[in-house]
Amino acid sequence: MEPATRIISENNRQSDKTYKFSELIAAPEVKARWEKVRKYFFLRESTYDMTNRCNIRCNGCYYYEGEKQFARENRDIDAWRRMMQAEKARGITFVVLAGAEPSLVPELCRVCHQEMPLGAIATNGLKPIPTDINYKIHISVWGVDATSLETRNAKDMLRRQIENYRQDPRAIWVYTFTRYNINEAEAVIQSLARHDCKLTFNIFSAPVGYSGDLNHTAQSLRQTREVMADLLARYPDQVVYSHYNIVAHTHNHGLHHLFGCSYPRQNPSSDLGLGRSFRQYRTDLNWDRQAACCVPDTDCVDCRHYAAGSAVVTARLYRHAVDPETFNSWLDYVDTYLAVWVTGYEKGPNLISKMVAPPGFDLP
Ligand code: SF4
Ligand code: SF4
Repeated sequence: MEPATRIISENNRQSDKTYKFSELIAAPEVKARWEKVRKYFFLRESTYDMTNRCNIRCNGCYYYEGEKQFARENRDIDAWRRMMQAEKARGITFVVLAGAEPSLVPELCRVCHQEMPLGAIATNGLKPIPTDINYKIHISVWGVDATSLETRNAKDMLRRQIENYRQDPRAIWVYTFTRYNINEAEAVIQSLARHDCKLTFNIFSAPVGYSGDLNHTAQSLRQTREVMADLLARYPDQVVYSHYNIVAHTHNHGLHHLFGCSYPRQNPSSDLGLGRSFRQYRTDLNWDRQAACCVPDTDCVDCRHYAAGSAVVTARLYRHAVDPETFNSWLDYVDTYLAVWVTGYEKGPNLISKMVAPPGFDLP
């Protein structure tokens, strides 16, 4: 997360009225939410490929695009510990362990956790991650089990994931909407609800040069938007999301077009905020500024990825501090982000129960 930490301007203009920031946070529930989320403005993330192996192979996996998959694996625990200590020293406070399948190297995940207590792990959920590694666990789900078998070539995925992670407060499922699984989301939520598991949403974002068939169209984005809103209304105890998340991630424009991505890959010369601090380490513990973002090798035009939005949207505090609806929508987004990514953070009720357009754009 890279929200601005400077003092907010007291004069943020909307087209027909100028709001002072003090007016935007005048309502007690808004002020309370602002105070709650701003405590986390210290978070500074980087991401780490833990291994280049995976126990399955999915259609559309961005990890197995580009050069990063060929990096040599460094499995030296001491080297990882030194790297984490150096990361801490340069101001990193939050780690995302990913690519390809971190559960295959629990000893490396453990060292990261010992050195850096806040973080998240992206996993397919088929191999349990030991409970002493107290990061958020993001478990990817791409549809009902028949669809997972087809697109991920793995049997009984949801059943096995639930067996491994039910009643685990670290766990949250991440449902990736492709063009073809939109109407399967409810069946997945029902299965998760039976075990009181939480779920958030992701949108398939094509890797560069992807020639498969999972990409979204304007029609599938609209359908996804409707299904998300419906599920958010009917499963409020399971779904960790907000209306502004829906807008930001299902808009016909991708995240970069809407908000301007500040990751180094889109912003190679920036020496500010995320552009300065973010690194995406490969399995050999090297990183490349030109390629650094949380979803490298994703096509920026098509980027609607939940992990990208977490930084791209939350970083745009000033742009959203223009009127109460826009600001409260942003607060809902940040509250959602923190609940999805930070261990122990509980999401509050959404402040806004309708879709609000991103600043400068129409509603999708
Ligand atoms: S589980 Fe994740 S890393 Fe493994 S192939 Fe699928 S998308 Fe790629
Ligand atoms: S893929 Fe997304 S997060 Fe990465 S640089 Fe492009 S727009 Fe930014």
